[in-house]
Amino acid sequence: MKKVVKFGGSSLASAEQFEKVGNIIKADPDRVYVVPSAPGKRNSKDTKVTDMLYACYALAEEGKDFSKALEDIKARYDEIINGLNLKLSLKDEFKTIEKNFKAKAGKDYAASRGEYLNGIIMANYLGYEFVDSATVVAFDKNGNFDAEKTNKLMSKKLEKTPKAVIPGFFGAYPDGLIKTFSRGGSDITGSIVSRAVRADVYENWTDVSGFLIADPRIIMMPEQIDTITYTELRELAYMGASVLHEDAIFPVRKEGIPINIRNTNMPEDPGTWIVESTAKKAKYTITGIAGKKGFCCVNILKDQMNSEVGFVRKVLQAFEDQNISIEHVPSGIDTMTVFVSQDEFIEKEQSVVSEIHRFAKPDLLEIESDLALIAVVGRGMKSTRGTAGRIFSALAHANVNVRMIDQGSSELNIIIGVETRDFEKAIKAIYDIFVSTQL
Ligand code: ASP
Repeated sequence: MKKVVKFGGSSLASAEQFEKVGNIIKADPDRVYVVPSAPGKRNSKDTKVTDMLYACYALAEEGKDFSKALEDIKARYDEIINGLNLKLSLKDEFKTIEKNFKAKAGKDYAASRGEYLNGIIMANYLGYEFVDSATVVAFDKNGNFDAEKTNKLMSKKLEKTPKAVIPGFFGAYPDGLIKTFSRGGSDITGSIVSRAVRADVYENWTDVSGFLIADPRIIMMPEQIDTITYTELRELAYMGASVLHEDAIFPVRKEGIPINIRNTNMPEDPGTWIVESTAKKAKYTITGIAGKKGFCCVNILKDQMNSEVGFVRKVLQAFEDQNISIEHVPSGIDTMTVFVSQDEFIEKEQSVVSEIHRFAKPDLLEIESDLALIAVVGRGMKSTRGTAGRIFSALAHANVNVRMIDQGSSELNIIIGVETRDFEKAIKAIYDIFVSTQL
């Protein structure tokens, strides 16, 4: 067995956290490839090292004195090194960083040093080899991640390296200049390493024991999801449920490698398994509920709409011309509704409205704002009759008016539109009917 283990920032924020991580790695000899993030927050008021680096580099870029800001960053690492009693000094590394900051080596270079330095400490602590991600994670000259080149470089290197630490979050352009992924991108590095070494499992260690059925800010102590498929996860992530960077799914999915989300602070918890497909029946009909506020919709009515060829295209064209992405388009016989994100829409609404009038000539057009969308997701819904009925009767009992219903043909999700003020109430009602009442 070969396992790739990625540890998030909060798992590596202090020497104490590093020790927990060390114990987790030592507890299983299969945990041979380690991907660290930069040190995260030690408490809620703390600052992540990545953010300290961005701020420090901003000073350097403006030609201001950044020595104190860099000292503070060094102090974060020294605290870890001293706490672990390591015979390691990052003095020379910091000299190089200072020189490169003065030479304006770039924002990405600056941010990447967070994981780079943490990787050096981790490799020293574990006695594993340090592999600089700049040599094995490739971006093309336009800054797009080059998956195939990376896979070749990474597998070639790791074939000869039985135990290694590969820092997360960054790689390099063909000319060697550092480039990072978007924030939270160490998850992607973990996935890339897993693909390259054909790992049996990609363990992603964080500060929660996996995915929860619903948002804990809305439902008190919601149940945890033990197994979720990639497709279900995609649906929930789209609606804002986030534990893992979305792009971390593709590399492992290609190879059929499962991801196991685990909690560094509670290593005995089995966490959540993210898999391609499973014969395991979900405990409840639904796997998860997620939702987002901040939508508005444009309702359009036109007599005989259904027989007018090209009507829908003309309406949608108005949104495309203003570069507004569309979330959902439920329709009736003579009506159609377009759901869009309110922030994106508001600035350009009058241009969209006039274009719809000009091209599609509707009988009536009205805009409604302050709507929320809720996704009820679950592979178990397909084989279960009455799921939609249960959702809507629960919402009716909770006095929630449903503004829109959209069930994908995969029967994997039902999306419901409600007024923003009913958002929390609706999620509670759905959670209760499928989970609380089934316990
Ligand atoms: N350190 C980076 C961030 O804060 C990347 C990561 O942690 O995954 O976004």
